[in-house]
Amino acid sequence: MAKIWALALHGGAGPIFGRDYAPEEAHIRGLLRDGAGRLAAGEAALDVVEAMVMELEASGLYVAGRGASPNTAGNWELDAAIMDGRTRRAGAVGALQGFESPIQAARAVMERTPNVMLVGDGAASLADAAGLARVLDPYSYYGAVDEDTVQEDDPPPGSNMGTVGAVALDVYGDLAAATSTGGVLSKTPGRIGDTPIIGAGTWADERCAVSCTGLGEYFIRANAAADVSARIRYGNQPFASSVQGALDDVKRLGGNGGMIAVSASGELAWGFNSSGLKRGLADSRGRFEVGTFL
Ligand code: ASP
Repeated sequence: MAKIWALALHGGAGPIFGRDYAPEEAHIRGLLRDGAGRLAAGEAALDVVEAMVMELEASGLYVAGRGASPNTAGNWELDAAIMDGRTRRAGAVGALQGFESPIQAARAVMERTPNVMLVGDGAASLADAAGLARVLDPYSYYGAVDEDTVQEDDPPPGSNMGTVGAVALDVYGDLAAATSTGGVLSKTPGRIGDTPIIGAGTWADERCAVSCTGLGEYFIRANAAADVSARIRYGNQPFASSVQGALDDVKRLGGNGGMIAVSASGELAWGFNSSGLKRGLADSRGRFEVGTFL
C-alpha cells in the first residue's frame, strides 16, 4: 500500500477583492484537517471527496448547496458530479431541484443507475428513491442572495462564481474528484454549466483528478478538466504545467476561473485567472495551506 495521500478543496473562483474571507478559510481549514485524517486512516478517495463536498454544500458559505442562489425564474437548480479515477465510473446531476446535497444525488446516479447524468425531474426521482434529504422550504433553507455579488451596474470581476469541489489521492493510489454548484448567479432556467459535465468541470482517471470553477461555458468549450490529463498523457507535459495549460486555454477563449488538481504521485496543483480561488491543500508530506487570493 502506497502510504502517500493528498487532498485539495475549493470554494469557488470569484472572491471579491477587499472582502474578508476568514470564515470561509476557517471552514476550509477545518474540513481539510478532517479530510486529511480520513485519508491517512485509509478511507477511499471517492468517499472522502463526497464527504468534503457534502460539508461544503451544507455550510451555506459558498454558491453551492445551501448557499446557492435562484435562477431568473426564482428556482434553485443545482448541478454536481463525482468521478472515480480507478474505474472511471462517474455520476452527475443537472438542474436538480429540492434536495440538500446534489453531490449525494450524483453519487446515487453512479451507484444506482447505468447512466452517467440525470437532469431535472429524472434526477429528483432518483434522489427520492435513494432517500436523500429534501429541501422542504427553499426560501428558508437557501441563504439570502448576497447583494454584493449581484450588482447589475458594476459587478466585481468574477463575482458570479462560487462552486465547491474536492480532489483526492488515497493510500491505495486511487484518485477521485467531486464538484457541486448553484451555477452562475442569475442564470437562465435550464442552464447547466461545466460542473456536471464529465471532462469539463470534473474529471478523475489514473493520472489525475481535477475540479474546476469559473464561467462554465468556457470550461465546457475547453473540456478543461480532462484536458489536464490529456496534456500529461499525449503531451508528456509535467503535471503543474498541464494544469496551467488547461487554464490558459480557458482564458484564450475569453473565460476565467480556476481549478484544483492532484496527480497519481500525490502532487497538488491549483491555479486561477479570476480574482482568486478559495482553496485548501494538504498531503502526507506535511503540506497544509489555505488561501483565497494569491
Ligand atoms: N462553473 C460553475 C458554472 O458555470 C460556476 C462556478 O464555478 O462558480 O456553473
